[in-house]
Amino acid sequence: MLARPIRTLEDFRDTGRAIHAYCSHYYHCSHDAPLRLEVLAVHVGWSFDFYQGKDYLAGRLRCSRCGWYFPTFALGHAGTRPAFSGTHGAGTVPHSTEQLIDLQRDREANLVNEMPWVGKRKGGRRFGR
Ligand SMILES: [Zn+2]
Repeated sequence: MLARPIRTLEDFRDTGRAIHAYCSHYYHCSHDAPLRLEVLAVHVGWSFDFYQGKDYLAGRLRCSRCGWYFPTFALGHAGTRPAFSGTHGAGTVPHSTEQLIDLQRDREANLVNEMPWVGKRKGGRRFGR
């Protein structure tokens, strides 16, 4: 376990975490795919701070199916699909308080641009509690 918060691509790799991108081209495309950390690292470096650079990253990632930029992200473990079942996250590694705050902030940021009734998407990802 790392003694410090997990923030960089290197941290994600070392702890077996995965970043999953969901196409945000709602109503047109529901493509989602895990990001390949080693490919990201080629562009931004292993020390890239995911939380700080998330918006920058989203602006550079293009959906391979419809070409839309700005996917939304979910974090999970490599090889498994992320299951965001709320803040309790049974079965996942506990997050630090700082991470939970970050995640909550991310969720809120994602919700800002969503239509109110788009609360559940493919894969059963749910927001809120
Ligand atoms: Zn798409």
